[in-house]
Amino acid sequence: MSEERQRRLRQPIVAVLGHVDHGKTTLLDKIRGTTVAAKEPGQITQHVGASLVPSNVIEKVTEPLKKLIPTVKLELPGLLFIDTPGHEIFTNLRKRGGAVADLAILVVDIMEGFQPQTYEAVEILKQRKVPFIVAANKVDRIPGWRPNPDQPILISMRKQDPSVIEFMDNQIYKIMGELAKMGFDSDRFDRIKNYTRQIAIVPISAKTGEGVPELLALLAGLAQRFMKGKLKYVEGPAKGVVMEVKEEPGYGSTIDTIIYDGIIKQGDTIVVGGIEEPIVTKVRALLIPEPLQEIRATKRFRAVDEVSAAAGVKIVAPGLDKAVAGAPIYVVEREEDLEKIKEQVKKEVEEVLIETDAEGVIVKADTLGTLEALVQFLRSRNIPVRMARVGPVTKRDVMEAIAVKRHKKEYGVILAFNVKVLPEAKELAEKEGIKIFQHNVIYKLIEDFEEWLNKLKEEERRKELEKLIRPGKIRILPGFVFRRSDPAIVGVEVLGGTIKPGYPLMKESGERVGSILQIQDKGKTVHVARAGQQVAISIKGRVMVGRHIHEGEILYTDIPSSHARLWQTKFRKELSDDEWHTLQEIIKIKRKQDPLYGLAIGASTNK
Ligand code: GDP
Repeated sequence: MSEERQRRLRQPIVAVLGHVDHGKTTLLDKIRGTTVAAKEPGQITQHVGASLVPSNVIEKVTEPLKKLIPTVKLELPGLLFIDTPGHEIFTNLRKRGGAVADLAILVVDIMEGFQPQTYEAVEILKQRKVPFIVAANKVDRIPGWRPNPDQPILISMRKQDPSVIEFMDNQIYKIMGELAKMGFDSDRFDRIKNYTRQIAIVPISAKTGEGVPELLALLAGLAQRFMKGKLKYVEGPAKGVVMEVKEEPGYGSTIDTIIYDGIIKQGDTIVVGGIEEPIVTKVRALLIPEPLQEIRATKRFRAVDEVSAAAGVKIVAPGLDKAVAGAPIYVVEREEDLEKIKEQVKKEVEEVLIETDAEGVIVKADTLGTLEALVQFLRSRNIPVRMARVGPVTKRDVMEAIAVKRHKKEYGVILAFNVKVLPEAKELAEKEGIKIFQHNVIYKLIEDFEEWLNKLKEEERRKELEKLIRPGKIRILPGFVFRRSDPAIVGVEVLGGTIKPGYPLMKESGERVGSILQIQDKGKTVHVARAGQQVAISIKGRVMVGRHIHEGEILYTDIPSSHARLWQTKFRKELSDDEWHTLQEIIKIKRKQDPLYGLAIGASTNK
């Protein structure tokens, strides 16, 4: 190995995130297009799942900026952009304690501002501690914008009407506001004072290319600044992460990987994370895409002897079909390190999987990365997880959910991200009423579950509310005794609150006098009577008119202490003014016998 290669800095890995349709793919295409247009022969290495923008291309694109802002001299060999945008891919760019991506571009449609997946992307970037730049995209859609294709935004901005710039700045302020709420200080890139503390917002158009020079210059500058402390040279055995497991015609089982450190060679022994256990195998071939311009190329891939970080490469080796996306891959340089590395890979995979007896949801995902992200999101929302595993939903998962459902109805569910539900699992789930949420967008999956959860909680609240005895005050109308006992039937006027069949009654002294059996209004049975109504009620229990109760007497609903407590706390808003008033009268009567009536002493009301 030459001295020079030993000291070579590696390219920072850049990922693009943001809400759907905000322009991530268009931006990546633009950046790749820039590279293709500006490239010099022999300088571009093709990558699997990633595109390299060499530093000479960055220099060429950012050349016009030299006169406008201080640009840094590039020491890095370029930037490696992950080709597929979105945080599902990003979540797989994982390594222990962080991300494989060194930097990220957060794309925000300047017209639409923050959207659900934007928040989610920022949350993931925060969780994984990845520095990022905001591309405020689609400036060309600002009313009145005059496009200046591929120009620096600083130049294009000078050619706009002041009202257009004002509009743009307003939109940027909104983005700054949202970022501030999430704990990030930010500003328009040309107003930033401290790049290590503030996040730069670059207005761009992925369509016209305006602002792309600044975006690339800032990325390169940021990369150099952030990576300076931990300057990353290419050396030693490779470390990488599995992005995708694929059956490739003519090659068998392969994995697409991003190598973020070191060198990997054909014939190397590697350890790759698998669902059950680490896979130890030998690299049969390293494949990179055939350059696009090679028209006569018959194959899609070309074999190479070795690849060095940072790079996207397809690895061909036996046994890789059991590998799992998001899992680590390590080259074993010395035979004696094998066991240690195997142990480490095993540990790293197991750290993401969860298996407990907790009353929590069951989580299934297609990859280790999405599983990890999902679990983190659930945790941040205080939703407990019982089991988290990679793979399709099986009968066992449903059984686990059934066990949870017995004690905690709201968590007896399965959240399945981008995986199938096996037929026997589906059958059992349907039979047992286990809900399986399925989606291939993380935020949608969580949103669907939370919506259901809220509905369930609302339903339970309703049920609890239904069980509570409402405050009610009635007067027995003189001359309206229809039957004196067994049961007593009398005409009453509801003076306040509400009465319903089943409600116990008490006198003004607090003495219990049976409970309401039936209510009739003009000869028809009704289920409720409210203040102002005159109805006939029958009273169950040993109650005789003239002995226990009398014409003209006032009765109240006999509310248990625990109900009175809930009426004053959790369900305060459910009472009408006259019900509230009636409750106060009831409390006054009750406290004569029980001074703690309706108080929260010794009990918790906020369930
Ligand atoms: P993604 O889902 O974030 O990858 O978004 P796409 O890159 O697919 O873009 C979504 C839509 O927005 C497409 O119709 C693009 O043509 C359009 N688009 C993306 N960037 C721009 C831009 O800068 N200006 C305009 N006018 N349209 C854009």
